[in-house]
Amino acid sequence: MEFTFVSGHLALDLAATLTWRSSYPIELLAGPQDLSAWIEQAGLADVAERVSDADVERTRELREAVYRTASAELLDQPPRIGDLPLISRTAAGRQVTPVLEELGRTVWRGSVDQVLATVAHQACVLLGGPDHRRIRSCADTQCTRLFVDHSRSGSRRWCDKQTCGGRANAAAYRRRRSQSSPR
Ligand SMILES: [Zn+2]
Repeated sequence: MEFTFVSGHLALDLAATLTWRSSYPIELLAGPQDLSAWIEQAGLADVAERVSDADVERTRELREAVYRTASAELLDQPPRIGDLPLISRTAAGRQVTPVLEELGRTVWRGSVDQVLATVAHQACVLLGGPDHRRIRSCADTQCTRLFVDHSRSGSRRWCDKQTCGGRANAAAYRRRRSQSSPR
């Protein structure tokens, strides 16, 4: 499985492993192998550890807490009770550790617990800091991916210009063409 990392933040990339939330949700972390692949592709740990079903379950709990909290302001709702303590508790754990193998090469090692602590720590920095105001939901309403808008104008609309932005541009182009085509 190839995961997508376009949210501009690790915690939001994790949140996006449940896709198309408003219509036909697709669970991308269906089992331990998926979680192991996500961890590796996220660059969180080079060493693939044994991942259990319970690890997948805990990862999904953290993911949903992050998603609900990150989207609370967009929905003009307060965060759900219990989500903030869950993220904080997870962030309190030991994080993945770097091993400087040679000049220009550090590998990261750790257990799933350490991976979750690392993601939760970064979630605390995002959700508790000024950048939480830059969290947007993709303009493609089916997509439901959240991202951090790092653009200077603060007007980024798509999680990904190639996929969601590309689809929208193609649709607009077809609309224009059909409107301007001679009868
Ligand atoms: Zn999108």
